[in-house]
Amino acid sequence: MRILLTNDDGIHAPGLALLERIARALSDDVTVCAPAEEQSGAGHSLTLHMPVRLHSFGEKRYAVTGTPGDAVNLALRKLFPEGPPDLVLSGINNGENLADDVTYSGTISAAMESALAGIPSIALSQALRDRGHGFSAAEGWAEQVLRPLIDLAMPKRTLINVNFPALPAADVRGIRVARQGFHDYARGSVVESVDPRGRPYFWFGLDDIEHTLDHGTDLEAVSDGYVSVTPLQLDLTHHASIGLLADRFG
Ligand code: MN
Repeated sequence: MRILLTNDDGIHAPGLALLERIARALSDDVTVCAPAEEQSGAGHSLTLHMPVRLHSFGEKRYAVTGTPGDAVNLALRKLFPEGPPDLVLSGINNGENLADDVTYSGTISAAMESALAGIPSIALSQALRDRGHGFSAAEGWAEQVLRPLIDLAMPKRTLINVNFPALPAADVRGIRVARQGFHDYARGSVVESVDPRGRPYFWFGLDDIEHTLDHGTDLEAVSDGYVSVTPLQLDLTHHASIGLLADRFG
């Protein structure tokens, strides 16, 4: 099995090094292609207004001067001349990607890019919160989450979103399949100040995000101490509203 690893925290992120160790337990053919710099919050963006460059960091390790989407796109076009990889793993993100984080997340978007190319794709993120357990849950649980998933024939244009709770591995209660939850909008804080040249600026924070722990959601699972596993689809159509809109133009 040939596995491509990527992330949005950049080629030097500790979460990517951890993912690399886990992937090498699953396969001896692992390629890493990740953004050169941190791209958290980049979403599913593609760099179109300037060139991107591919830098080699040893055997089958590459950094792309662009977004997670760029990294996957370039990897699939340039690093796999003999055919696409069998699996793409993105992460392990430094922080959770739950509920509405999905469309902001570079980690998940990288997996979306490979899902668009028809490759089984899994995004992995480690919730951190204030508690200092680091990547303990991911380290202890990633392999047993991944093993049943790697040969699973998921439908086309879907991907899997995995989140590890902010707990020591020994305290994690298990694995739960959950649907995507939702954040109550007001989204985070905005720091407002003045730069050294006297111009006002704004800086988005990610604290103070309220969310409802609806039953069966990824938010609830991780909050209850479980690893959440959520199937996602790239088709964002709200099918139940097709008729409502069609009536307006009928
Ligand atoms: Mn990130």
